[in-house]
This record gives sequence, C-alpha cells and structure tokens, in this order.
Amino acid sequence: MTTATGQRTFDSLDPATGAVVGTHPIQDAAAVRAAVAEAGIAAAWWAGLDRAERRRRLLDYKAVLTRDLTRIARLVHEETGKPEADATLEVVLAITHLDWAARNAHKVLGMRRVSPGLVGANLAATLEYLPLGVVGVIGPWNYPVFTPMGSIAYALAAGNAVVFKPSELTPGVGVLLATLFTEAVPERQVFQTITGLGETGAALAGDPGVAKIAFTGSTATAKRVMAACATNLTPLVAECGGKDALIVDADADLPAAADAALWGALSNAGQTCVGVERIYVVDAVYDAFMKELTDRAGQVRAGRDYGPITMPAQLDIIRRHIDDAVAGGRAVLGGTDSVRAPFVDPVIVEDVPEDSSAVREETFGPTVTVKRVADVEEALEKTNATAYGLAGTVFSGNTRRALELARRMRGGMTAINSIISFASIPALPFGGVGDSGFGRIHGADGLREFARPKAVSRQR
Ligand code: NAD
Repeated sequence: MTTATGQRTFDSLDPATGAVVGTHPIQDAAAVRAAVAEAGIAAAWWAGLDRAERRRRLLDYKAVLTRDLTRIARLVHEETGKPEADATLEVVLAITHLDWAARNAHKVLGMRRVSPGLVGANLAATLEYLPLGVVGVIGPWNYPVFTPMGSIAYALAAGNAVVFKPSELTPGVGVLLATLFTEAVPERQVFQTITGLGETGAALAGDPGVAKIAFTGSTATAKRVMAACATNLTPLVAECGGKDALIVDADADLPAAADAALWGALSNAGQTCVGVERIYVVDAVYDAFMKELTDRAGQVRAGRDYGPITMPAQLDIIRRHIDDAVAGGRAVLGGTDSVRAPFVDPVIVEDVPEDSSAVREETFGPTVTVKRVADVEEALEKTNATAYGLAGTVFSGNTRRALELARRMRGGMTAINSIISFASIPALPFGGVGDSGFGRIHGADGLREFARPKAVSRQR
C-alpha cells in the first residue's frame, strides 16, 4: 500500500486468522541511511558512558521488559500464531540473555594486563575490547524476541548502537522492543528499529555507516546479505538454518528420549532452527523407542498443542518434503493429509532414503524422519552427512560415550539427555558451521563478536 504522503506500507497478519495486526512503513535506502547516521551519533555517546552506567541502563531495560512481559508475549502470539505460553517463555529467555550480557560485559571486555612473555624485554601489555560503532541486526520471525535479542543485547552491552530490521512478518514486536528501550535510555537513539521487506535489510547491510551486521535467517538470504556487506567490507555474523539430528543410544532412557524428540520436532510447529528434524535410533531399541514416540505424538494436535505455520509459503516446502518422505519411506503417523493450512499435524516417517529432500533440506515444519541404525557410529556418520551444522542431541546412558559423540558431532552445539538446553544457557556460545553460518552469538564469544580488541604494549 502507499499512503497519501507517498510512504509505502505493509501489514503484519495474524497467521491463524489472517486479521491485520499492524501496518508499518517500508523504509527505503534514504530512511535507512538517516537511521544509521542518527545511530552513529548515539553510538559515540553510548560508548562514552562508563561500563557501570551502561550496565545500569541495560538492567533498567530488563526491568521494563519484565514489567511488559505479557504485552510483548501477546504481540508475539498475534504476529507468529504461537501459543501465548510459548511466547512468554521466549521473552523470559531473551531477558535472561540481556541480564547476562549486561552483567558480564565488563568482565569479558574490560581492560586487563597481559603478560608480555618476552624474555629480557621490559614491556607492559594491556588488552581491552572496544565498541565497533553501529551494529545492524537483521532478524527472523520464528522467535522474534529471543533470536534478535541474542545479538541486540550483546551488541549494546559491548557499547554499540543498534539498528534493528525485524522480519516483515513480525515488525510490531521489533518496534515495541526499541520503543521500550527509550524508557531506559531516553537521551539518544541507541537502539532503533527500521521496518520493511528484504530491500530494507539489504540497504542496512550495504550502508557504509554500519560497522557490523548480525544476521539471523535462511542460508539463501545470508548469501545475499554477505554480498551487500562486501561493498564496504562490513563484517558479518550469520546465524542460519539447520537440519538437526537426535541420536538414541542402546542404553538411553527411552521415555525421556521420546519426550525430547517430540518437543524438539513439534514445538513452535517445528519452526525452530535447532528443531529436531532427523532421528537415528540404534537397532536394539528401535521398536521400543518408536512405540514411545508414536504413543505420545498420536495425542498431539496442531491448533491445540502448537500454533500455525507462520509463513504461508513454507507450507509448500513442508508438503513437498512430506510427499518425498512418504514416497521413499513408510509413514508412521500422518502424511500429506496432515497439512490443513495454516496448520500441520505431526508427521513421522521412517526409513526415508538419506538423499530425500526430507532428510537433506531444512523443512521448518512439525515433521520428523526416523531411521534404524546398527550402532551410534552409523548414527553419527549419518548425522554429520549434512551441509548444515547447527546443533544436535544425544540420548545415552553412557556419559563418556555421549560426550565423545558430542565432540565429534558436526555443528556448534550438542545437548546430552536434554533438548535445546544450550540455547537457554547464556554463557554458552550459539552458532554453527557450513550452511548454518559462522560467528557466534551469546556468551563471552557473543560479546567479543561485537567488539574489537585493542592491544597496547608499553616500554617501561
Ligand atoms: P529469511 O532469510 O527469509 O529472512 C530473514 C531476514 O532477512 C528478514 O528480516 C528479511 O526481511 C531479511 N532479508 C530478506 N532479504 C534480504 C536481503 N536481500 N538483504 C538483507 N536482508 C534481507 O528468514 P526467515 O524466514 O525470517 O527465518 C527463518 C530462517 O531463519 C530459517 O532458515 C531458520 O533456521 C533461520 N533461523 C536461524 C536461527 C539461528 O540462530 N541459527 C534462529 C532462528 C531462525
């Protein structure tokens, strides 16, 4: 749409009902440039505050987000369709990360003495991590608070200003996060949100005033963002998709493994970068595990236990993957009929060929493939045979073996006898390899991602 003043706009919709949730401007390259310029002024001011003052302001922001938890969660629910309880959990996790980043920035980034380590030289050495300037954050819609906050909180805590481009599916949440920030930091535009489609994100990535881009989204878009960043040699952290596997060992706690597999595959209707999309089960316990899994999954209904598919175009991908899986393997629960737009009921297909789209490509739906393997070595080999490399899960009664599998598993994160637990531990870095992207958010690595080391040596 175009308004009387010539401003192009777009609507965000409730995916369950199609109702308009909000109307937002499509900000063009000139508007992006203006926001980045404003952020540049704010960045100098913010970086000039001492670390204790920045920490106090970020903890004030935490208090504002905590106060408005229900309001934020309701808007997440409206824009994504996910149940309000899931939305609440997402906001709580985001606040946990904000708190950790605020409290640990000084410890991780502050000046420290370094031993020069040069025999006979009378030198002193210090190391400090300084802010970069303006960080551009480009976010997805599936966790519209938790995911971008994993970059925004750490970039702010490291002393940068942030210009945030939320997904076009969840612009209202993005605007609200920046609006609430002004209660804690009213003086300057330290954290702004700009709204629009992909072109707005591209303008942000290509703006020479941006010191770093933190992108979270699909692998295909990451390549376009990287090309835009190349214009100014702007560094990039890219958090992309995944095709995570869960391995069930012969001595695993099977009910616990089935609970985790189900939650990992179905929560957020499977629209999770670290969702479980493949399961490899050791032969000795295959039948027993499948009974546990299908008994549970048979009780679950889309629209009651989890929400709709947020992005309508994703339904075609999900349908194609289900078709491919069923054609090559055996449907254990559901099938093509499980797609009742905008909802998709749980789908479990076993013995799907490893070259099927359902095993190779990110599905982003409540579907999972299950395969019988001879032992955990075969499970690991199949788990690692992917272009992605984000995260994975091992269920085993043998801690030593599980730890060894975790070390050899492709990707940045592995959970043992639990599911996706690494994402909720702020001190642990989050990120992947290969098509899942590069760089790390969260934890000390996440803080350093948004700072530059300043090394000083001094002759005594
Ligand atoms: P997407 O790639 O379609 O969009 C992501 C963001 O990029 C949006 O804000 C979009 O407007 C913007 N964009 C689109 N084209 C652009 C361009 N040319 N230049 C700059 N920006 C552009 O992804 P999505 O559908 O919003 O999110 C789903 C994907 O995100 C899935 O692949 C999922 O696995 C991934 N994801 C990854 C993580 C992680 O931490 N690794 C977390 C959540 C989601």
